[in-house]
Amino acid sequence: MSKDIWVLAETKDGKVRKITHELLTKASELAAKSGAGVSAILIGHNVASLAQDLAHYGANKVYVADHESLNTYTTDGYTNVIAGLLKENQAGTFLTGTTANGKDLTPRVAVRLEAGAISDATELDCDAEGKMTAVRPIYAGKAFEKVTFSGFPQIIEVRSNSFIAKDADESKTAEIINVTPNLGEVRTKVTATKVSSGDKIELTEADIIVSGGRGLKGPENLYLVSDLAKAMGAAQGASRAIVDAGWIDYDYQVGQTGKVVSPNLYLACGISGAIQHLAGMSSSKIIVAINKDADAPIFKVADYGIVGDVFQILPALTAEVNKTKAH
Ligand SMILES: Cc1cc2nc3c(=O)[nH]c(=O)nc-3n(C[C@H](O)[C@H](O)[C@H](O)COP(=O)(O)OP(=O)(O)OC[C@H]3O[C@@H](n4cnc5c(N)ncnc54)[C@H](O)[C@@H]3O)c2cc1C
Repeated sequence: MSKDIWVLAETKDGKVRKITHELLTKASELAAKSGAGVSAILIGHNVASLAQDLAHYGANKVYVADHESLNTYTTDGYTNVIAGLLKENQAGTFLTGTTANGKDLTPRVAVRLEAGAISDATELDCDAEGKMTAVRPIYAGKAFEKVTFSGFPQIIEVRSNSFIAKDADESKTAEIINVTPNLGEVRTKVTATKVSSGDKIELTEADIIVSGGRGLKGPENLYLVSDLAKAMGAAQGASRAIVDAGWIDYDYQVGQTGKVVSPNLYLACGISGAIQHLAGMSSSKIIVAINKDADAPIFKVADYGIVGDVFQILPALTAEVNKTKAH
């Protein structure tokens, strides 16, 4: 078993996703501690040209599995190819992100490799032997557990925004290995893909999120949240209460049964801070809450709190941000 750290490279719209840059940065840092190499698996169709991008973020080797049949994600196809590559090369550690594909692949690949798996890691470290230790939130973010492995291989799914990606170093190169993907038996087929919105910032990758809750009173007032989000270049989020009420699509929901996010800045506007909402955002670096009830539970996790009316504060904040941007 090699000590090498492998990273799943995810792409979207012809670009490498931010989570992959974060994972490669962290993998390089850990590899330096254990004397390991960093390998990336670049999988999809017409993705080969992105291999150098992965090198710029720390991959020493890039395994490119480029095939027409890998154009759209299928659980069977991607699992077969990735598990096959990891097995063949006796990978020590495999890192994925808590993306839709990462979450789907992690347990399946772990089973194929008879490996241990840790999900939703927010911190990662290793010893000189390459044995990993991860920290992950439990009980809806109320506590953190430290977990390690009893052997290799080690499979770890890492929450987006847990690590800061270094700037690309264009002088770095990698060995590119083109592989003939062994797709095996693929029992599912994607027949259509419906894209919800072209220019929407992906919640799980956003640096800033402005979320709205029932304190907004009705769907007609959600513009207060979207205006501020737009001014700040932020993604828009929502509590389940307003999703269930039909004010906004489920795609925007943050929480236990929605998306788990870790932005640098999370603004909760008119959101009470129910445990199920906190489960999805309490690992945000800075939390700002706007609520007219000073006893609202959201203030217990907030770094900054504004006790006040969203109908006054949100337009004032938006105007201020726009004013600052204009200068
Ligand atoms: C199994 C399960 C799973 C769940 N999953 C999720 C999940 O994934 N995500 C999630 O969000 N919830 C989830 N919930 C629901 C959760 O329990 C709460 O009901 C929900 O988060 C409440 O949403 P809210 O904060 O928008 O509404 P409320 O709890 O009604 O809070 C509204 C807040 O707005 C404030 N407010 C009112 N007017 C104003 C104003 N003018 N200005 C400023 N503040 C104002 C109020 O003081 C209040 O604190 C789940 C529940 C269950 C049982």
